[in-house]
Amino acid sequence: MSTSPKSRWTTSEAERLYGFNRWGTPYFSVDKEGFVCAHPDADERTVRIDDVIKEAASKGIKAPMVIRFQDLLRNRVQRLNKAFADSIAEENYPARYRGVFPIKVNQLREVIEEIRDAGEAHGYGLEAGSKPELLIAMAMHQDSQGLLICNGYKDEDYIRLALNYRKIGKEIILVAEQLSEVELIIKVSRELRVEPLVGLRAKLGTRGEGKWAMSTGDNAKFGLTSMEMLEAARMLEKADLKESLRLLHFHIGSQVPNIITLKNAVVEATRYYCQLKKMGFPMGSLDVGGGLGIDYDGSRSNYESSTNYSLEEYARDVVYNVKQICAKMKVPCPDLTTESGRAIVAPHSILITEVFERISKRESLLKVRKDEIKDQVVSDLHEMLYGRNKYGALEIYHDALQKKEEADSLFSHGYLDLVGRAQAESLFWQICDRLEKKVYKTRGYQPEELIGLSELLSDQYVCNFSVFQSLLDHWALDQLFPITPIARLNERPSVNAILVDITCDSDGKVSKFIDLEDEKQYLPLHPLKKGDPYFLGIFLVGAYQDIMGDNHNLFGRVNEVHVFLDEDEDDGFYIEDTIKGYRMKDVLEGVQYSAEGLCQNLKRQIDKATKEDIVRPRDGVSFMELYEQQLQTKTYLNITKKKKRRAIAKKSAAPKEDS
Ligand SMILES: *Cc1c(COP(=O)(O)O)cnc(C)c1O
Repeated sequence: MSTSPKSRWTTSEAERLYGFNRWGTPYFSVDKEGFVCAHPDADERTVRIDDVIKEAASKGIKAPMVIRFQDLLRNRVQRLNKAFADSIAEENYPARYRGVFPIKVNQLREVIEEIRDAGEAHGYGLEAGSKPELLIAMAMHQDSQGLLICNGYKDEDYIRLALNYRKIGKEIILVAEQLSEVELIIKVSRELRVEPLVGLRAKLGTRGEGKWAMSTGDNAKFGLTSMEMLEAARMLEKADLKESLRLLHFHIGSQVPNIITLKNAVVEATRYYCQLKKMGFPMGSLDVGGGLGIDYDGSRSNYESSTNYSLEEYARDVVYNVKQICAKMKVPCPDLTTESGRAIVAPHSILITEVFERISKRESLLKVRKDEIKDQVVSDLHEMLYGRNKYGALEIYHDALQKKEEADSLFSHGYLDLVGRAQAESLFWQICDRLEKKVYKTRGYQPEELIGLSELLSDQYVCNFSVFQSLLDHWALDQLFPITPIARLNERPSVNAILVDITCDSDGKVSKFIDLEDEKQYLPLHPLKKGDPYFLGIFLVGAYQDIMGDNHNLFGRVNEVHVFLDEDEDDGFYIEDTIKGYRMKDVLEGVQYSAEGLCQNLKRQIDKATKEDIVRPRDGVSFMELYEQQLQTKTYLNITKKKKRRAIAKKSAAPKEDS
């Protein structure tokens, strides 16, 4: 079953093509029937994504949706803690690892709960970067033995909240980003009569790298320079709070692609730590921030969407370098804290979108017969396509391009009619098509323009989702995510496509894809089959993406299902929880329209039209009902594509569109 009958295409070829064996291990693979499978706990237990989609559909939950694998979250927390525990044991490191999860990377309650529970045995804590996140952190921290670290700009209320939490005996550390915060901390702690735990954020000289590099360096938004650090230390000392300075923090930016950058930053920060310790402050903790990356393209390189190191290597490097520097400086080793967010949550969720339309240049091409041609320019193109040709591919391409431009210009000036222009365009695309096939077969170097033909000829697959809601970093920062069909991987993909979303924005598309070298301009996919839904999975979207959407075109949050492994079930899982995506009513209320007000406004117009006999009362009423009913439905397209047979057989059992 691993090969489809027509070709020698195998599922392992699909795994290679889409990179499952690189970015996907150990969590995603393709089974022998060509379905994408998840292994949430990185073991032999397997869940077919397609089964989850079907099960969700039976509960009335449709794509676009996010599938969260809760066990995968757990696995990541354990893996990070184990990596540090192992490195600490290997190096005989004389202090502890006490990681925290930065809430901003995924604030969803179910995500935070799972991480907290998984981290409980390891004393894994939480990090807040804003006041709303602090409210979450304090409530969710419960009886955790982990730290609670407060970053971000702080006003007096932020500090007052945190110090009240300190007052009930919690290990909450206020990390000062700037001198004015030190002042506020001193003031509020006097007022509340509580001894604060204070950290200082260093503005390192070590430069970040990658898309999020601006978190360090002289122009960074955050952190204290060496002069300010000295001043902060003096301020605390003068306020009789010398005992309060406990932690040194830095954050070099997210998704650091190069391990060397991280090592340099750790070395620099450890020097700061040791200096403060030698000045007589108690210290005790070094917090190396976030930055631990995810290898989105699987290339294991220092390319922006990749990392040239593993999670385990990162842990070893932190432990080793801190130990080395502390030994040299004769300072006791600190407890180590990381604030890894992306590395914990990115793999656990998948965005599922349905392709519902194919826009193809090839599909509407005219077959141009010689005797139908009236214009010289068309006849020239016809000759290029069908005549004998002694020129090379690149030259043919240039000639054809010139003729096409000539045809466009003749049309603009009124010398070519619509039929003539359509003929010219059809012939041009057919020439390109033929050249592309030839280039595809040729080995070795090919000029850029010819390689670009595949991109030029790519089809557009229209997908029911919004890039702005669900893949914000792809739009804003060109971040790449692995994208694959979730079934039919035992068939050779024969269509090169780019993806377009349903927003009215020409930026709402995905036209850059992961590749081992650099990036690809199209994604090989399968032709759509009538009546069969075709789903794509966009992977590793659990960090930032699935929580950050921007409501462009008012599409809003998508549906969600939360999946748990369960050996007692035939398909190995159950859906514990579902979260319904936004209804139209919800997003409209978000921009200040009340459903009631909208209905009244429309009703007034319908009443007027009824009075004036423009519309029959009965039709007016049913229009009003439609409007009211639509307010309660989902914002995304309601695609109803069912196999005819099944649609009839299951009609009565079919779930209602979720609302
Ligand atoms: C965003 C942020 C993090 C998380 O970074 P990741 O690269 O996602 O691990 C950690 N610490 C601070 C201060 C941050 O701002």
